[in-house]
Amino acid sequence: MQVAPGVLVATAELYTTTSTVVLGSGGGCLVVDPAVTVAEVAGLAAELDGRGLRPQAGWSTHPHWDHVLWSAQLGDVPRYATPRAVQAAEAERPELVDGVTGSAPGHDLTLLGRLTALTQARIPWDGPAAHVLEHDAHAIGHGAVFLPDTGVLLAGDMVSDIEIPLLSAGGADPVGRYRAGLEILSAVDGIRVVVPGHGQPGDGAEFRRRVAADLRYLDELERGAPSAGHDERIGDGWLRAEHDRQFALLHG
Ligand SMILES: [Zn+2]
Repeated sequence: MQVAPGVLVATAELYTTTSTVVLGSGGGCLVVDPAVTVAEVAGLAAELDGRGLRPQAGWSTHPHWDHVLWSAQLGDVPRYATPRAVQAAEAERPELVDGVTGSAPGHDLTLLGRLTALTQARIPWDGPAAHVLEHDAHAIGHGAVFLPDTGVLLAGDMVSDIEIPLLSAGGADPVGRYRAGLEILSAVDGIRVVVPGHGQPGDGAEFRRRVAADLRYLDELERGAPSAGHDERIGDGWLRAEHDRQFALLHG
């Protein structure tokens, strides 16, 4: 689906994971977080090929296994991430491999998490400006991408309609770091479309609604309020277990 001129989003079945393609000049494109099964990534590559599009660069929002995938058909191009995300992908390689082999087996593991550290705040490519917004909320060195020309925020694993805030447990003050991340995203002027790493895209009003919902969840979680467990996004599955784990992390 096209969420804005030149910005295409595909949604995978597993975890409602999104892959985004930004069109550049001369058939080049920027591919953000291609996901998630082997068949889906191959399908994305075939679709780009069919439209005469050629990846010029990749971007991984954060070093979790479902955001650092690639396939040979997407081409041998730089796949950027923030320097700290690259470090984490290297340090946590066994977890990345476990995640892929457990949930989306068959990927070429030599291409898994092979990222290039980007030391500037703008992704270098021949297309619309793509600004990196780095924070430590859901993961250390998490890099959302904002496309100012179209007002599109590629949020990575933040501001989802179907997931509560999932804290990065490594390091001090995970809730404070999460709030700081939301603040960085909220400070961006001109967000007209938000694309979460998991869930459905929304408009600017929906973005603000999700930020408010996330802040409410964090406030209640930090206070130890039982209402934190009533966030409608939690349900009865794996997010219930994540919520319980986060509650225990803060309140023992
Ligand atoms: Zn993640």
